[in-house]
Amino acid sequence: MVELCSAEKCTGCGACYNCCPREAISMQEDGEKFLRPVIDANLCVECRLCQRACPVINPIPKHDKADRPIALVHKDRKILLESTSGGAFSLMACWIIDRGGVIYGAMMTDAFDVCHVRVSRKEELAVLRGSKYAQSNTNSTFRQVKTDLEDGKYVLYTGTPCQIAGLIRFLGCADFERLYTVDLVCHGTPSVGMFKIYLEKLAVPRSKYPPHIRNFRFRQTENWGLDPSFEHAGRRILCENEDRVYLLLFLSGRLHRPCCYSCQYTSPERVSDVTIADFWGIGTRREFPYDVKNGCSLVLTNTEKGQDLFKNITVDADFDYRDWNETRGNHQLYAPSIRPKDREKAIESLFNDPIERVYAKFFNTPIIRIKKIVGKILKIIGIWK
Ligand SMILES: Cc1cc2nc3c(=O)[nH]c(=O)nc-3n(C[C@H](O)[C@H](O)[C@H](O)COP(=O)(O)OP(=O)(O)OC[C@H]3O[C@@H](n4cnc5c(N)ncnc54)[C@H](O)[C@@H]3O)c2cc1C
Repeated sequence: MVELCSAEKCTGCGACYNCCPREAISMQEDGEKFLRPVIDANLCVECRLCQRACPVINPIPKHDKADRPIALVHKDRKILLESTSGGAFSLMACWIIDRGGVIYGAMMTDAFDVCHVRVSRKEELAVLRGSKYAQSNTNSTFRQVKTDLEDGKYVLYTGTPCQIAGLIRFLGCADFERLYTVDLVCHGTPSVGMFKIYLEKLAVPRSKYPPHIRNFRFRQTENWGLDPSFEHAGRRILCENEDRVYLLLFLSGRLHRPCCYSCQYTSPERVSDVTIADFWGIGTRREFPYDVKNGCSLVLTNTEKGQDLFKNITVDADFDYRDWNETRGNHQLYAPSIRPKDREKAIESLFNDPIERVYAKFFNTPIIRIKKIVGKILKIIGIWK
């Protein structure tokens, strides 16, 4: 029987699933609702293509660190507000579409599934904009990319670094003149199943919210904030206190896929042509002359192709080359998230408890409450800012 990488290391990128000529591999949910490849022994002919396509078994070489990080803000306010950071993704995607190319990225369906899709028109980019903090299912997009490249199309594929590594391993290499890869600096990914369980608890038993939540957004775009929100009766409702519990669990690293805690891609040397992220701390060491109130992208051009792509998008952007020192506030550019000791307890609680209880157990314990009060007192008497 063919063995893939261990469950602890598997990123669920889907390269093995995409490459199997016998369709003997399916992606199935595990106990924490993460997608994992399962081989059907009756269909498998042991060709081992899946092992060759696995970026964990055969790691992708990384590119040298980019010369200088770039801070960027999209000039179009509407696009900026729809984007999570500074809108770098949209600038690159539009340039590729202008060349008749296609874009692959993650969207959220009306049923709250997060999955990779292919779009070819600028109007369709809106569904890809905005971070979805749950692991996207790449489905059969790697196969579609291969067909697009064979048809001579420009392709921009965006995703987490492990997904980009999976795509490159699936294709065999990244030496396709018309393929552009863009990865995100990634904190780690919860499963879509976890996210859906949270949404059910947020909506169903509570009179406070409507039974059907629509257009959930993980982050506030105005003021570059971290508050989730959703739509009801034409209004955007901000989630507060215990209703933010999914985001709080995510930010504290308690919901990540096990492999995320030893992620091999959390370094300034990257696997893709361009890397995009939030430029946390922009302007703290040296003035950045543009408004970052609604977000600012950190852009790393890791290859010559990435540098060329960047040169072509600058017309619609306010940008500046910065020092590497200024990126130190972006922790996941340097190290993976640390696995919290209570990760499993938190997941169990999310699965079984009402969200008020989850919040009370992990974010409103007596110790946390005392710390908050002491913090407030120290602020009032001016000892702590
Ligand atoms: C799970 C996750 C964790 C992240 N963690 C960090 C972090 O720790 N530090 C940091 O600086 N930045 C992080 N980011 C990146 C950041 O949130 C922005 O997505 C990024 O800066 C792009 O912003 P933008 O303004 O250019 O474009 P946007 O319009 O916001 O771009 C959205 C892009 O992200 C892709 N995308 C959205 N959701 C997913 C998903 N679930 N899986 C794969 N691709 C997705 C879309 O396909 C699109 O290409 C994370 C993103 C995700 C999805």
